[in-house]
Amino acid sequence: MGTARADRMMEEIRMLAEISATPREEGITRISWTEEYARGSDYVKRRMQEAGLDVREDRAGNLAGCLHGSDPAGSILSGSHIDTVICSGAYDGIQGVVCALEAARLLQENGISLKNHYKVLAMAEEEGTRTGCVLTGSTSIRRELAGEELPDITGKDGTPLRDILRQYRGFQEVHVKEGSLLKQEPMIFVEVHDEQGPMLEQEGIDIGIVEHIRGIRNFDVILTGQSGHPGTVPMSARRDCSLAAYEICLKASRYVLEHYDREATITFGKMLIRPGSSNSIPGEAEFSVDIRFGDKEAGLQIAEKVRGLAQEAAQALGLQVAFREHMSKDVVPMSKSVQAIVEGVCRRQGFTFRRMDSGAGHDAMNFAAFCPAAMIFSPCAGGISHNVREYVSEESLAKAADVLYETIIELDKEIGK
Ligand SMILES: [Zn+2]
Repeated sequence: MGTARADRMMEEIRMLAEISATPREEGITRISWTEEYARGSDYVKRRMQEAGLDVREDRAGNLAGCLHGSDPAGSILSGSHIDTVICSGAYDGIQGVVCALEAARLLQENGISLKNHYKVLAMAEEEGTRTGCVLTGSTSIRRELAGEELPDITGKDGTPLRDILRQYRGFQEVHVKEGSLLKQEPMIFVEVHDEQGPMLEQEGIDIGIVEHIRGIRNFDVILTGQSGHPGTVPMSARRDCSLAAYEICLKASRYVLEHYDREATITFGKMLIRPGSSNSIPGEAEFSVDIRFGDKEAGLQIAEKVRGLAQEAAQALGLQVAFREHMSKDVVPMSKSVQAIVEGVCRRQGFTFRRMDSGAGHDAMNFAAFCPAAMIFSPCAGGISHNVREYVSEESLAKAADVLYETIIELDKEIGK
């Protein structure tokens, strides 16, 4: 066993949590390419250098600390993001970076010399807080590898990404080699992250092995009927859109609970009722539908069900119904062979584990586009994330780092064999 030291990782998590634009008690705000982000990145660079890694930074402000292999045929990659949402917890993303760093330290302390390179990654703008585009740092890595330009996006204030990055370079104190972090070669990516949900903790399980990062489908349902006086129009003569909206949401929600409880979710996060007066029958209703699914068929079925329920409800009440599509992203499967290796490591170390899906998007999705990618989940207290109360215990941190460490040693045998 690697015997990871939680005290070192906790210290790094604590130090990074101090670097925030909001007061510590409200949560951590380290938005990509801001002064706080630069200070956080500088701290990670120093920790990488102290761990004996050769550090590089790319055009998007992503970092890679490389432990050079003795006879490399490729690279093993591990890491996550160091940007946050507004008033985030201390572990989201950061845990994946400190576990990857800890694995680098363990390899050296235990005298393990890898044949392949091992690269610790700390990436920008996964949360999309600055630009509204999630996974921007890892998207830039993927695009650079394919010889493509930076994503053509702007900050929420309209500043082009290129200008944001130019300004960002001025913030940093610790300058390292600039250039691409990766090159065309065999690679395997493993990301450690907290679950951001309650299942592992509820079931008392040490490690989650991710099978799929769930697909997502977002659309709006728009219902149009007839507004009117709430005291004069009899119930049987109404074309009340709110009633149809509630019925669709309730029925669809029960359908997903009954048929796909552990495989998919449906959320109606936003609802507008018009004219929005207590003294009017609602003549219009519009609500958002967010479906996440680990199986493409399930995603299609649920979306069809919602459409069917909407048509049915509209017909019953004489309403018009329309749909506005927003986003549709496929399921991203994680590498089966890497999952099997992680499972073998858990068994040998005597850790309990379960296979599961990730309902949240992660940088691993971008890596899955060009190499085998996998994710290792840790339980987090109460399943709470994107919240100052997010917490991963020292024991869970150490277990995740130990599993990652042994997985890296196993993966070293896979590359170039
Ligand atoms: Zn994250």
